[in-house]
Amino acid sequence: MESNQQSSTVRFVQGSAAPVFRGEPESGLTFLCEQCGHVLIDHYLAEDYIAVGIQCFQCKHVSFTPDIELGEIFSARTMTFPDQGGYLIGGTVTKRAGLMIASSAAFNANIEMTTPAEAGIPFELNFKGLDRLVEIYAETTGGDFAAQRKIVERSPAKFRHDLTFAWAIGILRDRLAANVLDVRDADTCSALIYISTFGSIYGRWKRHPRFNLIARGFAKPKSFLHTAGLFTTAFIMYQNASIVGLALEDRYGEPNPDLYVRGVQGSRTYLEVKAPQALQTIGEADPPGMVESAVKQIVDRSKAQINRNRVGGLVLFATGFRKNLANDMARFSHNALVRVGRQRTSLAAIMSISLADTKLTIPAGRNGMIEMDFRLGGVANPHFAGDNPFKFEA
Ligand SMILES: [Zn+2]
Repeated sequence: MESNQQSSTVRFVQGSAAPVFRGEPESGLTFLCEQCGHVLIDHYLAEDYIAVGIQCFQCKHVSFTPDIELGEIFSARTMTFPDQGGYLIGGTVTKRAGLMIASSAAFNANIEMTTPAEAGIPFELNFKGLDRLVEIYAETTGGDFAAQRKIVERSPAKFRHDLTFAWAIGILRDRLAANVLDVRDADTCSALIYISTFGSIYGRWKRHPRFNLIARGFAKPKSFLHTAGLFTTAFIMYQNASIVGLALEDRYGEPNPDLYVRGVQGSRTYLEVKAPQALQTIGEADPPGMVESAVKQIVDRSKAQINRNRVGGLVLFATGFRKNLANDMARFSHNALVRVGRQRTSLAAIMSISLADTKLTIPAGRNGMIEMDFRLGGVANPHFAGDNPFKFEA
């Protein structure tokens, strides 16, 4: 914290005895000169002023507001000030609700850490490439890969949803050993999608201060796909020019939100990511209605997590590779909103992330990532109470 404050040299110079800023809404709090106690900001909220220096009118000392919390995101409404020179303020500037004021240095350092990189890591589809991913898995998730492999070996079909990473590595090692890598084989296809997604996520998000904490979910029983869905959703949201925060479990005993966007007046709209097994199957052999009833069930159960106390959207993550899945998901989401949208005014949207139909190939020479393409679709709830941050083209 200290070093951040010293590296920021943006300074507002208090040109009169009046506070430099007055915040909205009226918080009743003040930011005082740390040397003489003179009021620098009236109706102060710490999260609205990031690493901003203010020179006191009375004693000329410069006090700095704290830096942003590590891994936290800035509001889309942030004003930054270059870190050279000072800004003389004669009276009091009213700072509108929800607006953040930040030093450019603090803002840029934050963006550098919290924005995902465009590309994943280069991944070779051979024993060496898989070993490298196993190392990364152990380092970042804390998962005991060897112990998990032993469990999966006892009954791969039974444990694939519990210990998904260990299952997928086993499948790919077997296929490499037998020299048959065929994406038309359902298990090979799933394993490739899972492992490739993991590698992409690691490459894109490893700089994020909250990465390791959240990546532990890859190694927890039954939560690999949920964790993959969370990071994939955040990445696609960034590609669609939304700034998305990775949420931490901060209150004991409460369900853990996955993602959030910041709205006006410091409000947050959350995203809950769901990755049910019914959306992860490969092929055409599934019973009719399986996907539709899975979507319906998730929407109905989401009342426990998305309600008046925590407004937000639902994301359905599908790694299933089957014809028309993306279109089906869009249709079922739409149907679900028609059914419950009017009652569920705290449900902002139902989104889905699924693989595009046509692309899943192993590049020649078996080097590099497999080619696949996750797409975001969604329907906003027209009955949502409030300013809906999620908008989709029809
Ligand atoms: Zn002072």
